Amino acid sequence: MLAVLLLIGYRASQHKSEADRERPPADSGQVQSSDQASGPDPASGPELAPASDKHAQETDASESEMNIDVTRDQVHRGDLLLVNKDNPVPEGGAETEAVNLYRHKELLDGFGLLDSSIMLSPDLAEKFSTMVDAAAGEGVKHFIVSSGYRDETKQDELYRQMGADYAMPAGYSEHNLGLSLDVGSTLGEMSDAPEGKWLTENAWKYGFTLRYPANKTAVTGILFEPWHFRYVGLPHSAIMADHDFVLEEYLAYLKAQQKASVTVDGKTYEIFYFPVAEDTTLHVPAKGSYDISGNNTDGVIVTVRL
Ligand SMILES: [Zn+2]
Repeated sequence: MLAVLLLIGYRASQHKSEADRERPPADSGQVQSSDQASGPDPASGPELAPASDKHAQETDASESEMNIDVTRDQVHRGDLLLVNKDNPVPEGGAETEAVNLYRHKELLDGFGLLDSSIMLSPDLAEKFSTMVDAAAGEGVKHFIVSSGYRDETKQDELYRQMGADYAMPAGYSEHNLGLSLDVGSTLGEMSDAPEGKWLTENAWKYGFTLRYPANKTAVTGILFEPWHFRYVGLPHSAIMADHDFVLEEYLAYLKAQQKASVTVDGKTYEIFYFPVAEDTTLHVPAKGSYDISGNNTDGVIVTVRL
């Protein structure tokens, strides 16, 4: 069992009412516009507080800072990109490494395919396999993938067939990003099948998140989809699960907090949000191996493993 410990930055209470205001009314789903209007002033830069007093005492500020050069286009690259009806897949930002899984049977480890057209990047297929292997260890093993990466032509086709209530226009679907997949069970509907229940409970441990849960339709603007999983990576999926955040809420939270610390399975991470309007150098008050992902709107998230 993974242990999650969250040490939340001091700005949490200050921004609570603001975060609540950012939630859209039930019929709207407009998260981004209000978020941008009420977020912290980007010009002021991140006000970084130590994760805890203990940490501050133990580390020397000059020795625990990293300078990281980032370019403006990094806002639109990475595992945390927000893609929804207000935020399209960036030009050239979609994964292009997707392969046809039917023709790459070596990637079919622990799951079947609904048909022979399904595409996924080898990297995402491997991450998914790791997760379903763990499920198989608990006797849950009837997974099929019904959709993975879709190029814009395929998305456009789907949109015309299904209509706006059931499909997103080309460029606005997470499937066009290459980090999402639809998962089914050969035992029945995902809302009832053991596969759906297992993933809903455990996907976060493997970096995945149920992207459109039933209780967040007002935030996502998308009806409950018990089959659609999105890769965001650890430790983000753990924080999202702990707070019951969907990606819109998590990115708004990071922007408001500007910093979060988390320990997952004995590994400690510090996470920083930085607004990025142009090519710049980030001064990150932590040291360790790190990942950078854009949020696809106005900044980047730097995740440092201490
Ligand atoms: Zn989907």
